[in-house]
Amino acid sequence: MTVLIDKKKCNSCKGLPEPRCVQNCPGDLLSLGSEDGKAFIWDARDCWDCMTCVKLCPRRAITTKLPYVLADYKATLVPIAGKTSIRWTLTDKEGQVEQFESVTLQPKKKEARP
Ligand code: SF4
Ligand code: SF4
Repeated sequence: MTVLIDKKKCNSCKGLPEPRCVQNCPGDLLSLGSEDGKAFIWDARDCWDCMTCVKLCPRRAITTKLPYVLADYKATLVPIAGKTSIRWTLTDKEGQVEQFESVTLQPKKKEARP
């Protein structure tokens, strides 16, 4: 798998000292293009789908492209991290959207006062 970057949505993380995706990709696979200033991936084959860049992009410009053997060509998966869960949005090849939620942290229960 690899990531897809929507260059229309990417604003190069203007105002930040370094683009979030570039700064945090553990494989140093992302950069800004010298001509358009938009993010791109150097070599998609080296991406191991950690989804760090997908979760951190403030413009939601990055999606995970699923391989055709899993979900057919053009299917994408986007995780949006919340405080206690991740919401996954799966878009299939027909453009139909399904959402799933996975809990990452149980909300703290209020303790009863003695
Ligand atoms: S999914 Fe992970 S390895 Fe792939 S480009 Fe994004 S941050 Fe880098
Ligand atoms: S994090 Fe998003 S907006 Fe920022 S440079 Fe990367 S793709 Fe563009």
